[in-house]
Amino acid sequence: MNYKKVVDTVYKQYGVKVSVDTDDRSVIISGECDNWQNIVIIGKMFVDKKSGKHVVNNIRLIGATEKYPILPTVKDKKLDGTDWDVVVIGGGISGCAVARELSKYNLKILLCEKHSDVAHGASGANDGMVHAGIDLKRKCLKLHYVVRGNSMYEQVCRDLGVEFKREGQYVVFTSRFIKFLGRSYLTRAKKHGIAGVRIIGKKEICAIEPRVKDFAVGALKIPTTGSVSPYKLTIAYAENAVQNGAVVSLDTAVLSMEHTDDKITSIVTNRGTLSAKCVINCAGVFADKIAEMAGDKYFSIHPRKGIDLLLDPKANGLPTNAISLAPTLKTLKNNKNTKGGGIVKTVDGNILLGPNAHEVFDREDTSTEMSDINEVFNKQSPCCPSMQRSSIIAYFAGVRAPSYEEDFIIERSSKVKNLIHVAAIQSPGLTAAPAFSIDVAEKAVELLRSQGVTVDKNGNFNPVRQSPVCAKELSNEQRDELIKSNPDFGKIICRCEEVSLGEIKQAIHNPLGVATVDGVKRRVRAGMGRCQGGFCMPLVIKTIAEEKNVSYSEVLKGDGGSYIAVGEIKQI
Ligand SMILES: Cc1cc2nc3c(=O)[nH]c(=O)nc-3n(C[C@H](O)[C@H](O)[C@H](O)COP(=O)(O)OP(=O)(O)OC[C@H]3O[C@@H](n4cnc5c(N)ncnc54)[C@H](O)[C@@H]3O)c2cc1C
Repeated sequence: MNYKKVVDTVYKQYGVKVSVDTDDRSVIISGECDNWQNIVIIGKMFVDKKSGKHVVNNIRLIGATEKYPILPTVKDKKLDGTDWDVVVIGGGISGCAVARELSKYNLKILLCEKHSDVAHGASGANDGMVHAGIDLKRKCLKLHYVVRGNSMYEQVCRDLGVEFKREGQYVVFTSRFIKFLGRSYLTRAKKHGIAGVRIIGKKEICAIEPRVKDFAVGALKIPTTGSVSPYKLTIAYAENAVQNGAVVSLDTAVLSMEHTDDKITSIVTNRGTLSAKCVINCAGVFADKIAEMAGDKYFSIHPRKGIDLLLDPKANGLPTNAISLAPTLKTLKNNKNTKGGGIVKTVDGNILLGPNAHEVFDREDTSTEMSDINEVFNKQSPCCPSMQRSSIIAYFAGVRAPSYEEDFIIERSSKVKNLIHVAAIQSPGLTAAPAFSIDVAEKAVELLRSQGVTVDKNGNFNPVRQSPVCAKELSNEQRDELIKSNPDFGKIICRCEEVSLGEIKQAIHNPLGVATVDGVKRRVRAGMGRCQGGFCMPLVIKTIAEEKNVSYSEVLKGDGGSYIAVGEIKQI
């Protein structure tokens, strides 16, 4: 790439003076600019697929100071002086799946997550779609792992006791021209080995999804698309890792590292300083910061926020399938780096609309604005015009972690010999995780062996995690038996989602030791219905307080400091 030419173009178009430095792995750009969107665009202009170099974008946003990451409130010496074979940084789907795959070996494994539960980053705020990979055009790591990951879902979810549905997805064509263009998907599916993709006619799509009858001329049917609860799967991976000997340390942030030129010598956390023979960077939007701590910054992450709207499954006028409108030439041009969102049917039966995609400066910006809600609803409602805005019961934002090259970075560091990066795991990272976690574990074993460490298989490894009881899914007879054996399963606490006291107690005593209101909500859905916890939250707080023998005012919503009750006002 002729960097001088790009520098001139940037100056002409954006008035920004960029200086460029290169080394064998990266092109490093610096300068100043007063617009974050432009900084991201400029970064992309330096992507050179031929050289394979990563862009390190050091252009400063004028007038902004980078926000300090959210850190745990706890500070102690719990981990001080400990020595581990492998330390995994980050408890998202990447870190938890990697820890679980590593637990197949006899190793001392520690996973550090800075929040009070796993699945707090993108892994807890996404659509839960197990993608087929049809949107990926070119050969890349994302494509490799998404196709492999998708095919593993039945087995992984069976082993981990997590619900998975493979109900397919429909991309609706609204004109004959778009339908004609849609044929390119067939060629791509064949090339990528995505089975069963076909174009169906108007009659067939209208029989499957009658709500599109006024505008559909046909659709692309992608039968291998599935859905899973992203946080339940992440939790299940973490729990299975713990059951097989790994340690998950929550409220534990990696703050800095001590290193020589080619080796991390110690890791400083808020719970003490520890050491590791192998460090695996699964830190999501902070993966480049972790790389920098290790003296290995050779890529940049630019956070990309997405908002999803959650609809009441009991509302009228909703579609019954995962559907989206096929992109037109115009939308394709505007949505280069997203799949464009759609109407998603979650594994729990809710309809999700979204996500959208906006580049944001703050890596932990999960705020939701009315403009986002309007944008997502207005974009997706043409696909099902009978959907009502009043059916929206909740909305949330997640932040993707793309690199400028828009592909996963899954490799051993070429500079720091005890470091592996699992970085830039943007969408569809949830789909890909079951596949890449196996390769990452193998890379870690190879790294350890190269350091002279003996690594044996864990003879006691058990891939199976029992799924927690879900009383509403049992038959009447089974539920009667359950209630007879434990009457708590007959006491309904969350009316919207029909969650019993027995299930809530079970969730409080989970293998990760998470006893917060959000922790219960993610495990058994208490508070996820139409009233969003309006009725059940006090009862959940009461149950946590009783089970953990603490006062109501000590019960947390989620992270440290998130107290809900301030004290008693009257006693009955
Ligand atoms: C809106 C949205 C919709 C999406 N939809 C889909 C979809 O339908 N299907 C799909 O396949 N993919 C989807 N994705 C992508 C998917 O969510 C991500 O690829 C995946 O969750 C990334 O997982 P991760 O573990 O790499 O990162 P994360 O889940 O972000 O986890 C990183 C973790 O590292 C922790 N951490 C960071 N720094 C430190 C530190 N210093 N010390 C300790 N811990 C630290 C964080 O707290 C966080 O928990 C979506 C993403 C978004 C945002």
